[in-house]
Order: sequence, then structure tokens, then C-alpha cells
Amino acid sequence: MRLNLRLPEVKPDHIVIPKHCPTAGCNGKRFYPRQKVKKKVVDAKYKQVEAWRYQCGACEHTFRVYPQGVGKQHISQRVSGLGVMLYLLGLSYGAVAIVLESLGIGIGKTSVYRAVQAVAKKVPGMKQAHLLDGYRTRAVGADVTSVRCGGKWLQLGISVDAIQGLTLSIDSLPGEEAEQLKAWLEPILDAVDADVLVSDDADAFKKISDETGRAHQVCKSHVGRNTDALVEELSALIQSGHDHSLETILVSSEQALADLATLKKLIHSRQPEEQSEVEQLYLRYAAARKPAKGRRFDIAYRMRNLFLDRWTLWPRLTFYRTWRDAHGNLNLDGTNNHCERSIGWWVKERYRSMRGYKREQSALNVSRLIAHAGNHLSHGLDLARLIA
Ligand SMILES: [Zn+2]
Repeated sequence: MRLNLRLPEVKPDHIVIPKHCPTAGCNGKRFYPRQKVKKKVVDAKYKQVEAWRYQCGACEHTFRVYPQGVGKQHISQRVSGLGVMLYLLGLSYGAVAIVLESLGIGIGKTSVYRAVQAVAKKVPGMKQAHLLDGYRTRAVGADVTSVRCGGKWLQLGISVDAIQGLTLSIDSLPGEEAEQLKAWLEPILDAVDADVLVSDDADAFKKISDETGRAHQVCKSHVGRNTDALVEELSALIQSGHDHSLETILVSSEQALADLATLKKLIHSRQPEEQSEVEQLYLRYAAARKPAKGRRFDIAYRMRNLFLDRWTLWPRLTFYRTWRDAHGNLNLDGTNNHCERSIGWWVKERYRSMRGYKREQSALNVSRLIAHAGNHLSHGLDLARLIA
């Protein structure tokens, strides 16, 4: 996890003269300072600041105006920000209260909890139903992860801009069925006007890309790893010589081992035009029959399935090699790494140091807040904007 947070400052002499009347429906434009009042604050530098009572020239309502970094609450924005920062770095609410107490800043853990949740609530976007206004990207990466919450597993769906890497949304999901994933993902693809979906090779995502008419890039790293593991396992089984299913389709062990080695080579060279070579591999095993119900899949049938799957997967695996964005650039790297990083850094890393979330809303709030901070790494996230 990388964070770049900027703490709110407290400036007792900096009072911004109001522009709007807080009374509902009042259009008052002139405000008159009436009285200076003292306000006690919990802050790292100041014990007390001065606020002003202003009066609206139109409705005569009076209201307080506070200096920069101080609001209605008795805790300064700097201290709230400090609490949020320490919590995001991995301390529990109670531990944050202890650290602040030891620095002479006495706020209880409930105040730390409220500060974190209040800031998280103000994070813009980050929800399927409310993405960043007007944000557009041609390619969306999506994945599912889970966290413990109230003694159960909570499924979270994460979507990212697969080109820039920004996190678009973190939502709770009712499950991982294709229909449930589609109900979550389709509105996101529509909202950002995406042409391409990037994902791992789960069938649900293939279905979503097909049914929503989006092109699909399946993560080349996932497929490469899975293929290598299967090639190794099947090669070892063939060499052990216990399975005679290859004889029934008239393929020698040597041929089968060579075909597996060829697939392993192709899966890493991954050129679009190599699809016909994968097809040729499949055709040698196409006659293999599914074993009777209840019997183990034999080598011949497993090889048939492996080659068939990789042959049909080929266009989704090599899509990134030829896809160009509106400016003619090759902008996809063929992996779903942006999404995996988003899960690792913004959802899992903070979560690791706790036994689980108590409330679903907290799990969403905290993950969205960290992801929002992650979207602001280059210039830093100004916490004052979320606290004020
Ligand atoms: Zn007024």
C-alpha cells in the first residue's frame, strides 16, 4: 500500500467571510460580523480559537464562522485527519486513540471511528451506482475478492480503468454467479463507455463480455500460469504410463508430450495468428470421449479439453496485441494487473491487520477511502476536502 495524504491545517487568523446564508431558502448576500466568541478545540497546537458570529442582512439569522481547520465539532480537522491517517496505516481505532492521547491529544476511540466513517462517506464516486461524474475509459478491468465481515465472507467487486489504473468502484456483491456479476458490471461498462473488458479467465466474465457486446482481454498471466501447471501435471501422468486412453485415439505418448510442449511454447509467444496451430493440436484429440459418469477423466479427454479451451480462448488471450485506443496507441498490456494491484493495495493490505470487519458498510467505506487515496498518489489526497 502506498499513501500520499495531506493533513488539514489549523489557521486561527484565517476566517473566510461567508457567501451564503445557512437558513434554508434565504438568498441573503450581505453578512455582518457581530461578535467574537471563544471556542475550545482539541488540536495539536491550539487549545482555543476565536470564531465570529455573523448576522445575515436579509433574514437576521446569526451563525458562527470558524477559522480554517475548525468546524462545529470540538476536534480540529487536523486531529481528525491525523486519526484517519493513523487508522489507514493499520492501527485499530483504539490504538489510534492511545497514540493521540500520548501526544496530549485526548480523543476517544469512538471519535476516531466517527472521523474515519465521516471522511469515508464523503469519498466521491467509488460506487457502481455513482461513479466519478463523466469519467470515461475504453477498457475496464474487473475482479472479485472477499473479506470476512461479521463472521461471514463478504464478496467485493472491484472495477478499474484498465489503461490508467485508477480504481473506479468497490461494491458488495450478492454472489459470483454470471448474472449477479453482470448486474453489477454492465452499468459500470455503460457509464464509462467501455469497449473492452479485462478479467481473469472465469467463464462468468466471458459471458458478460459476449452478452454486453464488449471485446474481452483475458489476463495472459493467469492463463500462462494455469497452462504451465496443467502441462506439467499431464506430462508427468503420461510419463508414469498408467493411463492407456491415448492408445484408443491412436496418439503415441511421445506425440502427446510433444503437443503439450508446443502448447506451452505457444501460450507464451501468444501471437494472434498462432490460433490455427492450437486448433491443430486440438484436432488430434477431438475424438476423445468423455468417460462414463462417475469415472475419472482420463488423459486423452483432459488433453482434448485443454486444447479446445485454449483454442477458443485464443482471441481473448491475444486481443491486446492488436487493439488500439482512439489515438492509435496499444494501451493494454494483456494482464489484469491494475485490478489485482487495486485489490492488493486498497482492499487486502489494510484488512490483513484486523480480524475482519464488523459491518459491511465499514468494509466498503474503508476500502473505498483507501482506494480513493490511491487514486490521488501523484499529487496527494487533501484530507481537508473530505473533512471540512
Ligand atoms: Zn439569511
